[in-house]
Amino acid sequence: MRKTSDRAGLVEFSSRCGNTCRYCGLTGAIKSTALPAGLDELLGSVADIYRAGLRSVVLQSGEDGLAPEWLAEIIQYIKRNYEMAVTLSVGERSPEDYLLWKNAGADRYLLRIESSDAFLYESLHSGRRVETRIRCLEDLRRLGYQTGSGMMVGVKNQNIIHIAKDIFFSPILILT
Ligand code: SF4
Repeated sequence: MRKTSDRAGLVEFSSRCGNTCRYCGLTGAIKSTALPAGLDELLGSVADIYRAGLRSVVLQSGEDGLAPEWLAEIIQYIKRNYEMAVTLSVGERSPEDYLLWKNAGADRYLLRIESSDAFLYESLHSGRRVETRIRCLEDLRRLGYQTGSGMMVGVKNQNIIHIAKDIFFSPILILT
């Protein structure tokens, strides 16, 4: 069994999102009404996680256009006040934002590729392209983040070839 200190606590600080991924569990109604957690609430959750003995926190949100400087200040605050690894899961952003957060102290980033097949990817994410996703993953790796990715299995129109391509995709990304 893993030690408590090896496990991570998750703070989902905003369910607002401008995207419309077909598989998303958040309904349009929730997306339009849910407010991001206030700063006190967010930092209170981080403190609770630390008090529970966990030494890793994941900060997660939908892609809601959050101000990069706001998140950078939160990362800096956590790194100054707690001995914790900080993982981000806030979606596709510019290389400049990823760099800002890395310099603020972020250690890891979670960004699933979902599907490496361009047609399947675009059928699941209206108006979005897999090339952007790959660019984000490459930026994260280049900036030194420990980057977590992953694929989805069982989505509509997925076949065995898609799954095989996804299995081979991650090692190719790591080795290139
Ligand atoms: S980016 Fe995430 S939160 Fe936003 S619609 Fe897609 S799966 Fe849902």
